Amino acid sequence: MIQAKQIQLARLALIVDDQEINRDVLGVILEDSYDVIYACNGKEALTAAHDNLDRLAVILLDLNMPVMNGYDVLEYLRDNEQLKHIPVIVLTSDKEAELIALNMGAADFIPKPFDVHEIILARVNRVVALCEGRQLINETQTDSLTQLYNRGFFYYYADQIYRYHPEWHMDAFVLNINSFHSLNELNGWEFGNRLLREIGEEIRIFLEQTQGIASRFEADYFAIYCQHCEDYNSILERIQNRVNHISGHNNIQLRMGVMPWMEEVTPTQMFDRARVACNLIRGNYHTHLLVYNEAIRLRERYETQLINELNHAVESHQFQVYYQPKYDIQCDPPRLNSAEALVRWKHPEFGMIPPADFVPLFEEKGLIYIVDTFVWRQAGRQIAAWRDKFGFTLPVSVNLSRSDILNPDLEKTLFGVIEESGLSPKDLKLEVTESICTDDAQRMISVIEKLREYGFEIEMDDFGTGYSSLNMISLMPIDVLKLDMKFIKNIEANTKDLRMVELILDIAKYLGVPVVAEGAETQNQIKLLREASCDIVQGFYFSRPLPKEEFETLIQSELDKGRVNVPADMISS
Ligand code: C2E
Ligand code: MG
Ligand code: MG
Repeated sequence: MIQAKQIQLARLALIVDDQEINRDVLGVILEDSYDVIYACNGKEALTAAHDNLDRLAVILLDLNMPVMNGYDVLEYLRDNEQLKHIPVIVLTSDKEAELIALNMGAADFIPKPFDVHEIILARVNRVVALCEGRQLINETQTDSLTQLYNRGFFYYYADQIYRYHPEWHMDAFVLNINSFHSLNELNGWEFGNRLLREIGEEIRIFLEQTQGIASRFEADYFAIYCQHCEDYNSILERIQNRVNHISGHNNIQLRMGVMPWMEEVTPTQMFDRARVACNLIRGNYHTHLLVYNEAIRLRERYETQLINELNHAVESHQFQVYYQPKYDIQCDPPRLNSAEALVRWKHPEFGMIPPADFVPLFEEKGLIYIVDTFVWRQAGRQIAAWRDKFGFTLPVSVNLSRSDILNPDLEKTLFGVIEESGLSPKDLKLEVTESICTDDAQRMISVIEKLREYGFEIEMDDFGTGYSSLNMISLMPIDVLKLDMKFIKNIEANTKDLRMVELILDIAKYLGVPVVAEGAETQNQIKLLREASCDIVQGFYFSRPLPKEEFETLIQSELDKGRVNVPADMISS
């Protein structure tokens, strides 16, 4: 109760009249509900208004006054950005003046001579309440940085258009800034904010020429809902041009996803699809605009189904672990040295799904840990089963995604795997791709260092495919380097590629890091790699990835031929 009165009293009313008696009467009427200040003419009134900007709730304004009259005050207020939101109630005895004042932006009027006091107070209160309500609506409807609608109101209005104007064929656009995060970091928040404001402003100008609404959904995601036009590119171009003007030395690239009008597709669905299109071209430096199409829709449906079925698929053993052997090619004949565990999804409807279909998807959705922990556990049990069967340990490497490394449970999970099967950390090697270090390299490196201290061996997978270069080897603490298959593919035909492989092998040797070459398919490739002193090869030449039963047969047959690397310390007692 006390609090309510304090808030009420904190509102300020400015009474402007040259007649003292009028000021006094109004003061008495308002003083229980407002803090009241007074002015005798327009000039004093404007000074008082500016001095009390943050508290002023209402101005009661006489029209005929010396020095500066009420009309001039109204005109001034109408053009002043800071003051134009403050409601003005004119005090007048003349009908014609009343009309002029209302047309000049007055919110209401109080006739002179003053009437029943309660009515005057109720009138003032109503104007104040209305005005505060309107301001609140304005504030909650729009994003303060760009003045575009916020997401909630945007959808509210988009739904209204969809429902009540089905004859307007509205397209949905989602616009985003490539690498906005880095731009912000590099140039500061103020630069980022300016960029967002400029984009908002250009969208508003564009919408003045067509029917439509726009929003900043969040961060650097903008949404535009506007009447169908043929030339999507020109919309992107005009906003891009505006951005180019302020980009300075930065190369700022926008991208846009479009969902063209389609009967019976709601605004929410339209924008979900436009956003999918927009995200599909993230990181693609040649395509800046993508229109959602049937192929994307089918792909999306497929991916959604995979995501929804993930947990059930793990429980019902639809995921299977295959093993691909790695051979030591410096022995003659080459010897089975270790293996890589590679996951497969045997799906009841889609058949065998390759990891390329779901690993990147689950990585993006933060779900890969579910698959990977399953694979690690299976691989751990398999290593133990073969150790028990064959009497020695064949090390198996498993793949770790970037998000696995950031997972706070990683160490616990890996130790769980090791302990459950009675293994030592060096039996389960960990493959990480060099791309894990694209950002927050320090954090990644510290996790990897810790894993190495525990005894796990780290293999750098797909070396040469990312941004990193040879100096990554010295930055990242690794035990083995896996040369990506793209290097091996052409070593027979292209001497340049062969030179490259030889060079990498030389440097790796100098640094004391053994190299595994991936993807060797022919005998000649093996020969060239051996001559370049590559240690280990994993490739179809030796074997494709095999189900565990077939891999077991392979171990047995290689054992029978004496073609297995069984280091002394691996022979179990
Ligand atoms: P990766 O880790 O680089 O695995 C090697 C890939 O190369 C495997 O493909 C393997 O079948 C293929 N490959 C090996 N030798 C040859 C060859 O001579 N010729 C050709 N054309 N291909 C060869 P796969 O099994 O389709 O796996 C693809 C990628 O999926 C893997 O690349 C890895 O990044 C990811 N992946 C597979 N299993 C898992 C997993 O359990 N967890 C995670 N996070 N990723 C996995
Ligand atoms: Mg791998
Ligand atoms: Mg690889």
